[in-house]
Amino acid sequence: MDFKNTEAFALKLDAADPLQKYRETFHFPQVNGSDVIYFTGNSLGLQPKNAAHFVEEIMKDWRELAVEGHFYAEKPWWDYHERLTEKLAPVVGAREREVTVMNTLTVNLHLLMVSFYRPAGKRYKILCEEKAFPSDQYMLQSQVRFHGYAPEDAIVEVAKRPGEHHWRTEDILEAIEKHKEELALVLMGGVNYYNGQVLDMAEITKAGKAAGAFVGWDLAHAAGNVKLELHDWEVDFASWCSYKYMNSGPGNASGVFIAEKHLNDPDIPRFEGWWGTKKETRFLMQPRFDPMDSADAWQISNAPVLALAPYLASLELFEAVGMDALIAKRDQIVAYLEFILREIDKEVESSFEVITPAHARGCQLSVFLHGEGKSLFDYLMKNGVITDWREPNVIRLAPAPFYCSYSDMYRFGQILKKGILEKA
Ligand SMILES: *Cc1c(COP(=O)(O)O)cnc(C)c1O
Repeated sequence: MDFKNTEAFALKLDAADPLQKYRETFHFPQVNGSDVIYFTGNSLGLQPKNAAHFVEEIMKDWRELAVEGHFYAEKPWWDYHERLTEKLAPVVGAREREVTVMNTLTVNLHLLMVSFYRPAGKRYKILCEEKAFPSDQYMLQSQVRFHGYAPEDAIVEVAKRPGEHHWRTEDILEAIEKHKEELALVLMGGVNYYNGQVLDMAEITKAGKAAGAFVGWDLAHAAGNVKLELHDWEVDFASWCSYKYMNSGPGNASGVFIAEKHLNDPDIPRFEGWWGTKKETRFLMQPRFDPMDSADAWQISNAPVLALAPYLASLELFEAVGMDALIAKRDQIVAYLEFILREIDKEVESSFEVITPAHARGCQLSVFLHGEGKSLFDYLMKNGVITDWREPNVIRLAPAPFYCSYSDMYRFGQILKKGILEKA
């Protein structure tokens, strides 16, 4: 499509956008009396307007039923989480029994490593990308130390090539091949938080498994953003937080995928608790653990229903829209944003460099602002553009297709231009 950097053109795209009506289903923070232009759905998604209703429903049942709410609430609490898993499975390309919701992301990755990182003999190394999200680095380092290894030796980090801003799939595959005798686990971020790159999860999974390792993915920036086919790719396990593109609210519960073939495998150990036992017999309080026939077997504690409520509200929207429609709009709105950036770049004496690879991107454009300082970021924030800044000079722009509009992209371009010119 031939884009134009005009308000009329942006409004035309909005009018033709089948998702435009969902913008109304979210609350927008206000700056200077208007909705902000929200580029940080990759960090904390906006609040769905029906989230408060879902929370109030539980507060009401708790008020009026107290303990009886476990079984007699409008949506009974004892299996409340199952309402989420049936809606989550299609978002990540999983069978329903391969998905559960519990804890938070880093906690879940640690628990999943109990099952899938069991170094033995020569096989003790973990392969990941360099400069992974800090929590993932700390997790991997503490795990290998827990097993008695040195992080410098046991963690293999795949680097980008000098002067390049993204990883090359062939370099990742080569690293897997090089370490294939020693790899216990490949665990990477499916979408990198810094450059927005979508890794070739299918190819990397295939190579990791061919090397005899388990393969897991941290999908924090992938869930609700990119097409995932976890079952068909034969991924062993994955986990994601729900507060980024999944719009569930700050620090909220995490999703977990465990491949069907591992579900009843007695050779896969795990840490267990009462919520992992068969729900039919759970309340008989028997001493023997009788696992659920699903990823729920990894659940430990009873579910935090107050937290799950806004997550369920959001998942109803995902169910109504579907990932394919979200992805179709995502591709167009990101392309429009990139076009606007290039147009503004021509009009001002600046130089933006999009470091997100065009062939492997989701919702996020990471933009290197050569010659601009943090003052430009401050100007944007003051003028209602919510974005974030990463050292040395990168802003991350993620126009979440659920609620961002094409006119937001146009307005952003105008504010950006003014900010650069006013400073000049
Ligand atoms: C956001 C993010 C996290 C956050 O972890 P929590 O345990 O939810 O605090 C972890 N890893 C990656 C890659 C992330 O992007």
